[in-house]
Amino acid sequence: METSVRPYYVPVGNEERVFLAAFRQGLPIMLKGPTGCGKTRFVEAMAHQAGRPLITVACHDDLSTADLVGRYLLQGGETRWVDGPLTRAVREGAICYLDEVVEARQDTTVVLHPLADHRRQLPIDRLGVTLDAAEGFCLVVSYNPGYQSVLKDLKDSTRQRMIAIELGYPPAEIEEKIIAVEAAADQRAAAQLVRIGRAVRQADAPGLREVASTRVLISAAKLIAEGLAPGDAARAAIAGPLTDDPLVAANLTAVIDAYL
Ligand code: ADP
Repeated sequence: METSVRPYYVPVGNEERVFLAAFRQGLPIMLKGPTGCGKTRFVEAMAHQAGRPLITVACHDDLSTADLVGRYLLQGGETRWVDGPLTRAVREGAICYLDEVVEARQDTTVVLHPLADHRRQLPIDRLGVTLDAAEGFCLVVSYNPGYQSVLKDLKDSTRQRMIAIELGYPPAEIEEKIIAVEAAADQRAAAQLVRIGRAVRQADAPGLREVASTRVLISAAKLIAEGLAPGDAARAAIAGPLTDDPLVAANLTAVIDAYL
């Protein structure tokens, strides 16, 4: 995705410099971080800065190699080869972002190996060709190190070829600014939500798979901007989506109420 306005991204550390250095050297990048901490927005901003199109693939355990590389499709009585998103990125010199790559099966991700090393090649068995990645191609994968099984872990040989960038939830003052900008919220509401978010993150409630991400805090701020009371907004946007368990929900509500 290339737009004339750079997508809004506030750097937290040296992640922009590391990304652009790796991009210029043609090195693949792995982004590690919890859900909703800004990984996608970061890649969008970096693609814009690098002046390359961005092709994003949301990975899941049904994703096949054909979904990435391409397949023959029957169109109007004819079979025609249609490139998958990875092949398009390789041909166009785009940034290919594989979101939540550990969700994909290993037999799907083997196709990434020759692309991730110095060869920068994509073999397409069905066409009997091997494509050299065009200048500007960059492979970026993301995953949440918090909840992957050992089985689904990335292979060591793949990991070693990649440049790692760790992203977490931003420090309080940056997160406040992001919430205020993204939700067009006032600074006071943003600051209050950040305090709630940090308390929920620290509460470490058992049975909670995710914690309050920057994304859910932005959603809460958007509800407040619509006139909802902060408590109602926080319950609907923070506590509700995080759990279905009434006990855990009650604990979260208590944490939220303590900061209102
Ligand atoms: P992830 O891909 O890690 O799940 P996203 O990139 O979708 O998360 O981030 C969720 C939202 O949080 C974004 O839409 C954006 O509004 C906001 N966000 C998080 N971190 C930042 C940041 N550093 N700068 C600007 N916006 C951010």
